[in-house]
Amino acid sequence: MKRVLFTPGPTQVPSEVLEAMARPLIHHRTDEYRAFFLEATRLLAEHLGTQEPVLTLSCSGSGAMEAAAVNLLSPGDEAVVVEGGKFGDRWRAIAEAYGITVHKVSVAWGRVATVEEVESALTAHPKARLLFLTHSETSTGALFPAHEIARVARARGVATIADAVTSFGVYDLRFDDSDLDGVVWGSQKGLMIPPGLGYVCFSPRAWAIAEKAKLPRFYFNLVKARGALEKGDTPFTPAINLVLGSHAAVTLMAKEGRAAVFARHQRNADATRHALRALGFSLFAEVPSNALTAVHVPAGVDGGAVVKTMEQRYGVKIAGGQDQLKGKIFRLGHIGYYDDGDILRLVGAFEAALIDHGFRAEPGTAVRAAQESIRGAYLPEPALCW
Ligand SMILES: *Cc1c(COP(=O)(O)O)cnc(C)c1O
Repeated sequence: MKRVLFTPGPTQVPSEVLEAMARPLIHHRTDEYRAFFLEATRLLAEHLGTQEPVLTLSCSGSGAMEAAAVNLLSPGDEAVVVEGGKFGDRWRAIAEAYGITVHKVSVAWGRVATVEEVESALTAHPKARLLFLTHSETSTGALFPAHEIARVARARGVATIADAVTSFGVYDLRFDDSDLDGVVWGSQKGLMIPPGLGYVCFSPRAWAIAEKAKLPRFYFNLVKARGALEKGDTPFTPAINLVLGSHAAVTLMAKEGRAAVFARHQRNADATRHALRALGFSLFAEVPSNALTAVHVPAGVDGGAVVKTMEQRYGVKIAGGQDQLKGKIFRLGHIGYYDDGDILRLVGAFEAALIDHGFRAEPGTAVRAAQESIRGAYLPEPALCW
């Protein structure tokens, strides 16, 4: 059976990327490899809206989070972590693993923190000079106001580091125009390549902090990685074929055009939300991210069975909830390589599996609503995140 991933990571990989990765291995200390690596790096920076170096690390997104944290923090530091889901909590776990005192701004999962909530935490903990947050919280589908929070943090001299793992490639982050001081992301979400690469980009302010920060680090020494990048190198053997894949992926994104990529994500998210609302669902997230759509599992429906039927009968893989949301929500991913037809397949399979499991709906409701949304959307509006 033809199977398609509609999970909020890993995501569908274009054939151009698979082909680029399938070629016989080339050596990384060659001009040929350096040309691919530098061009991929340049296009990634362009996509992020930055002149700063984008570092490619051989690790998943969490490795990039850890790399950012250990390069910015020193023993005895305090940090503020904004948490409203599994990934926000991961910042806490990373910082605490290194002995950092963490002050959490916690909101109920599904909610987003307000600028005021974060401001009062910064006032209460003036020793904290770093703030870690999640832009698009993939465990709940919520989009946090990262740019607004960064603005108030910067006004107090606090540097904001955002987990942009499911907002890179979805939203126009405009890093250099923003008050963010660091962003991290991974390969297997909006970038449309398999898992295995993590990315970090720092502002000049963050680099100034990194040059003095004292937490132990070896493999993830970003100052060293920045020095190597100037020569098209990495301190260690890079994940060569994934880098070739990333080159193919960012080339595809550049050809489509940044604004078109963001508009497509907006259209896919709108069509999915419209379809689910037509089925009677309300969105789980207070402010929904364009990376994925999360909805409650309806009373009387076995959520796990629906996910399984979608996969086994319809070839469509979605995700359930994690941790405290296990069995309670469905998460439908539309981040990365998806078009209008894919969304019709996604919501069609979702509706069919729900009906298979006793949910009452008129067959075709979700597909019809998605089609209406898609038709109406061809007056594309850019996706806004701040
Ligand atoms: C996927 C994801 C991560 C990273 O997870 P890995 O499994 O380490 O790649 C981090 N944050 C968010 C918001 C994510 O969606």
